[in-house]
Amino acid sequence: MKHSVGPCQLCNRDELEKFEIPNSSVLWLCRDCELYQYGEIVDEDAYAAEYHSGYERHREQKIRTANIRLNRAASLLDRSSAQPPKLLDVGCSVGATLEAAKQFGWDGIGVDVSQDAVNFCIEAGLNAQKVDGLKLPFADNSFDIVCNWHVVEHVADVRETLAEWNRVTKPGGLLVMETPDAASPKVRKLGPSYRKFWAPEHTYTFTFKNLSRFVKDSGFEVEPSPIIGSLRNFSPTFAAYAATYQTYHGLRKLFGVQKAFQIFARKLVVDHTMTPRLAAA
Ligand SMILES: [Zn+2]
Repeated sequence: MKHSVGPCQLCNRDELEKFEIPNSSVLWLCRDCELYQYGEIVDEDAYAAEYHSGYERHREQKIRTANIRLNRAASLLDRSSAQPPKLLDVGCSVGATLEAAKQFGWDGIGVDVSQDAVNFCIEAGLNAQKVDGLKLPFADNSFDIVCNWHVVEHVADVRETLAEWNRVTKPGGLLVMETPDAASPKVRKLGPSYRKFWAPEHTYTFTFKNLSRFVKDSGFEVEPSPIIGSLRNFSPTFAAYAATYQTYHGLRKLFGVQKAFQIFARKLVVDHTMTPRLAAA
């Protein structure tokens, strides 16, 4: 099969394979790095109220999951500052991560392309704002932790997006993300017939390996994923829940049915003392 788009955005391979999900969408698969790419870019207006309505019903569950995710990230955070960590949640939806950040005593702000989602967060007493497109309305080096859950597979250009996330992360700060896993054995086995996995609004589908390469290219180093973090941050009841939750997901991974992965990465600290200076005119 010949490509009509390309080359591969990661490894530059010329020929990409057409990967068609029946009655849904077309992605282009690189057989070298297993990156699914060049999906049709969905207009941001598509992520209006309906996109988040299902999430609203499951908000309590999502807050519990967010607590576990942030607890894992917390084990990698530099806690030497007296200030609470500043967190940015890109694609904050109904604010589950912001709610969890609040419970951790962190200073969280969310952005989303959906005004309805942002309004929902604000009504819930959370800090959120609408953004359009790639550019984030924050200064360089603003956040200790930038997270995004099931966002990176939607973006128009993964390199530009990671560069912008890098820009707003403090040197030594964390980028934490979760996205569907193209390397999941169930996904590899069922391919395009795994209809619940593929979504027309996904412009990419990644593996841990290929997304890690993009992340490294963008000025981060990938950290070993923390398993659970310190359970002392939780009540005994919630600690038991978190341990069960993580065991369940570990078993799912073991049996090849886990269909998402996380990346925990740290922004490189660039040593400017080694930068050559231009001679004064
Ligand atoms: Zn490739």
